[in-house]
Amino acid sequence: MLTFTVAATEAAPSASLWRAVKPVRAAEGHSQFDGHSPPVAAALLAGTALLASPRTARRRGRRAPVSATKGDEIKFASKSSGEAAALPTLPLQQRAQGIAEALPALARLSGSIVVIKYGGAAMVESPERTIRDVATLAAMGLKPVLVHGGGPEINSWLAKVGIEPKFVRGLRVTDAETMEVVAMVLMGKVNKGIVATMGAAGVAAVGLSGVDGGLLEAKKVDDEELGFVGEVTGVRGDVLLSALEEGLVPVVATVAADAEGNFLNVNADLAAAAIARALEADEFVLMTDVPGILRDVKDPDSLISEVDETGAEKLIEDGVVAGGMIPKVTCCLSAIKDGVQATHIIDGRRPHALLEELFSTGAGKQGTTIRQN
Ligand code: ADP
Ligand code: MG
Repeated sequence: MLTFTVAATEAAPSASLWRAVKPVRAAEGHSQFDGHSPPVAAALLAGTALLASPRTARRRGRRAPVSATKGDEIKFASKSSGEAAALPTLPLQQRAQGIAEALPALARLSGSIVVIKYGGAAMVESPERTIRDVATLAAMGLKPVLVHGGGPEINSWLAKVGIEPKFVRGLRVTDAETMEVVAMVLMGKVNKGIVATMGAAGVAAVGLSGVDGGLLEAKKVDDEELGFVGEVTGVRGDVLLSALEEGLVPVVATVAADAEGNFLNVNADLAAAAIARALEADEFVLMTDVPGILRDVKDPDSLISEVDETGAEKLIEDGVVAGGMIPKVTCCLSAIKDGVQATHIIDGRRPHALLEELFSTGAGKQGTTIRQN
């Protein structure tokens, strides 16, 4: 009864949304569906039930969290397995209230392209939960494109073959041997792992790299110190759009090939920004392992929740923004210059941070928003 009222007053049902929800429903076997729920209410319930389902809380073989680091410190995926922290299931009334509050944002965002960069550093904390949030967005009728890193996983595999990771200004120094490991880990284990997790959530994803379909055109950066690091010179947006047309969620590993066919390692933040610009994305979200831009990287309470272009440039100049945060801020600025209204840097370790950022309405909003001047 409650779900019917919410759907009837707040948003119009859509057949395509209903179709999109069906696989999730089947995969999750939600008992609260009686087959008569209006589509939008069912969609929202499917989404929220997905979040609150026992499967989310079930013990999964995830990695133990790696603590946040400063500046250029190097992060490794832990070899030991831990337990995903179980979130309490909210009472039905609170869930319904949450759904009602989210409906205007859902109506606004339905059908819109959301480019999400899921950071390597954030990926050590409950990666399945975030991947399932992206699946939820797709089930709710948004068009997410997930661009991923895999830094800690790469570092762990480099350690296994005895190569020491090195970074300069937040970018990985990539010699020929490092490039081999980056290619195998990112385009193989990490990319297909994400696709498989989305499949398990009932949403079909397609794993791509910058090499596939010539998705990312790149050239080697003009910096000998960095090695096989690529700079994006073009994006074949049509490759992603055709996947989206087919109802598939594109999952992109940011390895590209140069004109001679050599692999190049492209920083995932910069690749995601180039993709967001090429697709004229409605939303651009960078997920990392800190609450956002911090005035003092050691103090999680020193969050800068909003900053304009000039302010962000000054934060880099003053050295407040350092290490891996530099490419993030730089790429937000470049996206804004190309017309994106606002970009977000959020904490991917925070449960359902992505849904919170996209569907919440101002008060208590987390993360940093970088806006136009
Ligand atoms: P990702 O894998 O998500 O790209 P990175 O390690 O490359 O993560 O970049 C995020 C890191 O940037 C943070 O963990 C933090 O150590 C570092 N950093 C440097 N300066 C800042 C700052 N002012 N605010 C927040 N993080 C910062
Ligand atoms: Mg990074």
